[in-house]
Amino acid sequence: MTARHSRRDFFRLAGSAGAAAAGTAAGWASASGDPAPDGAPHVATVFGQPATVPKARGERVVVVGGGWSGLSLAKYLKRAKPDFDVVLIERRRTFVSSPISNTFYAGVVDWERLCHSFHDAARANDYLYFNATVVDVDRDSRRVFTERGYLDYDWLVLAPGIEYDYSGMGVEDPAAEQTLRDHYPAGFLPGSSDLTIKGKVEAFEGGTFLLTVPSGNYRCLPAPYERACMIADRFQARGVKGKVLLLDGNPEPATKSEGFLGAFNELYPDTIEYVPSTEVTGLDPHNRQVETRFGGHGFDDGAIYPPIRGGLLLEILGLSKPGSQQEADIDPLKYNVIGDPRVYVTGDARSMPLAKAGSTANSEARYVAELIAARSQGEELAWRSPETVCYSMVSADPDRAILIRNRYSYRLVDGRYVWSLANTRLDQEWDHAKGRATLEWARAMYRDLFTAA
Ligand SMILES: Cc1cc2nc3c(=O)[nH]c(=O)nc-3n(C[C@H](O)[C@H](O)[C@H](O)COP(=O)(O)OP(=O)(O)OC[C@H]3O[C@@H](n4cnc5c(N)ncnc54)[C@H](O)[C@@H]3O)c2cc1C
Repeated sequence: MTARHSRRDFFRLAGSAGAAAAGTAAGWASASGDPAPDGAPHVATVFGQPATVPKARGERVVVVGGGWSGLSLAKYLKRAKPDFDVVLIERRRTFVSSPISNTFYAGVVDWERLCHSFHDAARANDYLYFNATVVDVDRDSRRVFTERGYLDYDWLVLAPGIEYDYSGMGVEDPAAEQTLRDHYPAGFLPGSSDLTIKGKVEAFEGGTFLLTVPSGNYRCLPAPYERACMIADRFQARGVKGKVLLLDGNPEPATKSEGFLGAFNELYPDTIEYVPSTEVTGLDPHNRQVETRFGGHGFDDGAIYPPIRGGLLLEILGLSKPGSQQEADIDPLKYNVIGDPRVYVTGDARSMPLAKAGSTANSEARYVAELIAARSQGEELAWRSPETVCYSMVSADPDRAILIRNRYSYRLVDGRYVWSLANTRLDQEWDHAKGRATLEWARAMYRDLFTAA
């Protein structure tokens, strides 16, 4: 989907969902078999009926999105206030981790290491996992609509993550966009695209393998550079006569620049061609041609990362901040939707310029969970900075990594928030100790998200 979708478009697409939100769906979109009005497709649906979840046993907090942010929130809401009745609504059936997925391409970890069970997380931490897609929210009646019925909430947290915005790289034709999504998937949304990219890396026999880095505050600043290293490492190990062409919209790697440039030059001088300050302006996936302001490049295969935007749900709900990448219009310190202290947006969908990282989402969620618990008792909580911890593997065998770890601070300038990094620790000397620490960090995070530890 593109940034051009409006709330009305979505209702037309979802058909009965919009009608349900307006309180009219139950009359026609039911088991009665009545035809849908206005020629809309008839869908046997439960949009207008209560979801089959247990009755709330306390104040109900509904968390939408079971990624790094939503999983952390569901757990830490129960920790902050065990009386909360927490329901996590997630449309996926299996959790797939984006962090350390680049190392999967190089064979450092296997697929099973990335996959985890939502049921384990819910059972261990005493909340409900409701496997459904949220299609609308009525904030007046505090009701969340899914294709499996509606749920009422006392508090709502939206953590829908991001979407791709192909129009941001000059791709306006839906057929071209779909070809890019299927044939050259970016691999920055967790799931089956990781398997496709791994298959491409193993099947590549030579030529140019295209990777791109968007500009803006894209998801996981170091990940495209780490990916270039992991794929180049695999090509070298397989003896492939080919190169990774890395087109970067930024003037240098957006983070850990020295470490990545050192790795490109020393470890992959003939396998990575790094081209900075070169934003993609157009793509012809059928003829495998990428356009930039400085001319075109052909490619043989690739994984093409377009600019990103906030999750589609925010736009559907009219919660996108004007002037942002369709990210959430929220209080930058308290995370609630402006004017609505019952609804919060967290994780990569936030509009503050914090690193879009799982570690940021996890530490931020602990604070937001405590804040909601405090507010439910009429209290407030002082702002706490999230912490970003980002290891990047630059070689697979031996596994060697670099690191950035930082917090954030802010100043108010003419009523506007100006954010800076704080307490930054930057370690750009790659070594095996940090390679091991990368995998240990991921293990600890999975333990946090999926067990009671
Ligand atoms: C290749 C790669 C490497 C990375 N490496 C690191 C790293 O080393 N360290 C690090 O800290 N971070 C890393 N990240 C970043 C990290 O993955 C993200 O920052 C993190 O996933 C953001 O969490 P989130 O919960 O906001 O979004 P997500 O994890 O994307 O979760 C959003 C969830 O919402 C669900 N959803 C959306 N809409 C709906 C709806 N309408 N109804 C129901 N469910 C819905 C989605 O299915 C999804 O499960 C990496 C990312 C990538 C792509």
